[in-house]
Amino acid sequence: MSMEPIRETYILLPEGTDLLMYLVLLPFAVVFLYGLYRRLSVTGFPSLRDIWAGLPYVVRFWLLQRRVVRERLAGLMHVSIYSGILALFIGTSLVFIDYDILRNFQARMLRGDFYLFYEAALDFMGLALLAGLGLLFYRRLVLREARLRPKLEYLMVLSGLFFIGLTGYLLEGIRLTLEPRPWGGWSFVGKALSDIVFAAFAANTLQTAYVGLWWSHAIVAFTMVALLPYSSLYHIFSTLLHIAANAPKQPPTGKMNTPFKLEELTPEAEIKVGFRKVGELSGMGRLELDACTDCGRCEAACPAFEAGTPLSPRMIVQKLKNSMWMDGGLETDVFASGLIDEEEVWACTSCGACIEACPVLIRPMNYILEMRRALTLEGRLDKRKNALLTNLARYGNPYGLDPSVKQEFVEELKSMGVRTVEENPDAEYVYWIGCASIYDARGREIVKNMARILLRAGVSFAILGVEESCTGDPARRVGEEGRFQEMALANIEKLKSLKAKKILVNCPHCYNTFKNEYGEFGLTVDVQHHTQLIAELLRNGKLSIGKGLSAKITLHDSCYLARHNGVISEPRTILSKLAGEDGFIELKRSGLKSFCCGAGGSTYWYEVRRRDRESIIRLREVLGSGAGVLAVECPYCMQMFADAARVMGVEDKIKLKDVAEVVAEAVEK
Ligand code: SF4
Ligand code: SF4
Repeated sequence: MSMEPIRETYILLPEGTDLLMYLVLLPFAVVFLYGLYRRLSVTGFPSLRDIWAGLPYVVRFWLLQRRVVRERLAGLMHVSIYSGILALFIGTSLVFIDYDILRNFQARMLRGDFYLFYEAALDFMGLALLAGLGLLFYRRLVLREARLRPKLEYLMVLSGLFFIGLTGYLLEGIRLTLEPRPWGGWSFVGKALSDIVFAAFAANTLQTAYVGLWWSHAIVAFTMVALLPYSSLYHIFSTLLHIAANAPKQPPTGKMNTPFKLEELTPEAEIKVGFRKVGELSGMGRLELDACTDCGRCEAACPAFEAGTPLSPRMIVQKLKNSMWMDGGLETDVFASGLIDEEEVWACTSCGACIEACPVLIRPMNYILEMRRALTLEGRLDKRKNALLTNLARYGNPYGLDPSVKQEFVEELKSMGVRTVEENPDAEYVYWIGCASIYDARGREIVKNMARILLRAGVSFAILGVEESCTGDPARRVGEEGRFQEMALANIEKLKSLKAKKILVNCPHCYNTFKNEYGEFGLTVDVQHHTQLIAELLRNGKLSIGKGLSAKITLHDSCYLARHNGVISEPRTILSKLAGEDGFIELKRSGLKSFCCGAGGSTYWYEVRRRDRESIIRLREVLGSGAGVLAVECPYCMQMFADAARVMGVEDKIKLKDVAEVVAEAVEK
């Protein structure tokens, strides 16, 4: 026996076991390769160039699991299992290289200090795997977390992994009992088992048990590998490929894709928007679906799900994914087959919470909005959605109000000293007021307060006046791409003729459209939300406010400002200044994790069947925070919460104010 620590492979096993093992492995390998081929032939395989470009994302989101670890228990559990599997895979590969390749050249790698480290590291990582699996069983079987769907397949896969980990230790323990080595202590789990458990057994019993355990360990491991492309474990591969291929190309979450350019369409062109069949998606779109791990984080974050609408983003993705693997599933019409209910896709507020929550960068919202487009193309719209589109076409606003209403408001603003672009053509900012602040009385108050701030700070700005029309956002979110582009092109032409360089908006939806969607149609402008401009005015001393609030204040982040566009710090800077450090209360769901008011994605304009209203759920959260004032930064949020407060009868308990209103009051004080 060598006194140098060295990996001894196939000891205690009959002669020829190595050859027999490779023969046994063969059919398992064939099943694995066929499964892999079948899977990739449906989803496609990213090009090597794409994989290279996606490497930084793979390191961040796949290797380091940046989003998985956001949740403490689930993160700890997943990282333990994942790193345990990865370590065991690397360990087994090293044995293969050492025994099946290097040994033939009279060389060895698993020897000396490296081998000792190898043994200790593998024992440690095996423990991590078992602990992680134990935690997962605890969550699924004891805690029975609602988010984790009970599926027999998951339990079988987890049991298989547990069996491999456990039998690995048992084999090590028996080996160290029958063939003790001076360095055995480095395999600390195996050594402990040897000393505590196996020392009491007869040698021939252990020898027989060893051979049986060795083969059962190998067969279960081979089975797991063979079934990998057919089981939930395949997410190890599919998430890797999806992140590499798709992550670098993902646009800002607030930007919908452009299926055609109206200006470039010829009369013969066949318009194809959205999808009704999974087969109509691109290969990489299907790969993205295939990466879904069914973790349920998107569902837990979804306001439509919490409000009891028929929508769950997890189920949308899972149903589309499963459809890929059904016979003829690629060609199955998801609506006609009953797989997806139209109500599900209309319930989405396009808040983006599902995208933000997904640990593997899947965008459930995009599939939903694309299916909407297919429905709209076929005219499957109810009365209210049709009315919305008609109003946009006929009146240039979603309310269907006569533009004379706008004229009245423009006159009111002019009486305050606000000038139009004709009167002030060199203004630094074009103040785009937005429909919700022109046609709604509460929204108008926000504009008047903002105008007071601008006039006081000496900002050079001008309004479009009666020339202003809707950006087209509601048309795009309801799936009417043509109407959106018509409105966008008209607005862009107008703004270009004015040589507008900076646009100021109240509405996060206008903000998103200017920032993310008009660029593709030829308009590049610097767009600022009023909270950004106010923060800038405070920073450069053009505006000054002191602590002016006695009541505690909290902030509802708008999805289209905070989550889709990352404007998070500015309103906080302003409100903390006004309320003092202790006067500003952060809601539990805030910033990127804000909870939608329920108005986005054009759902403001039609009815959605639901158990509860998103705005009421949110207002309950606000009331529980102890704040006396709720600040908002979107005129739609304002309307939603004003309604919710009325319905709940809490108008006297919580004051609703736009950030601009709070600032204007403080300035005027
Ligand atoms: S975008 Fe928002 S409402 Fe729509 S599915 Fe995602 S989380 Fe739910
Ligand atoms: S889409 Fe993402 S967050 Fe939702 S269940 Fe699938 S992996 Fe989880």
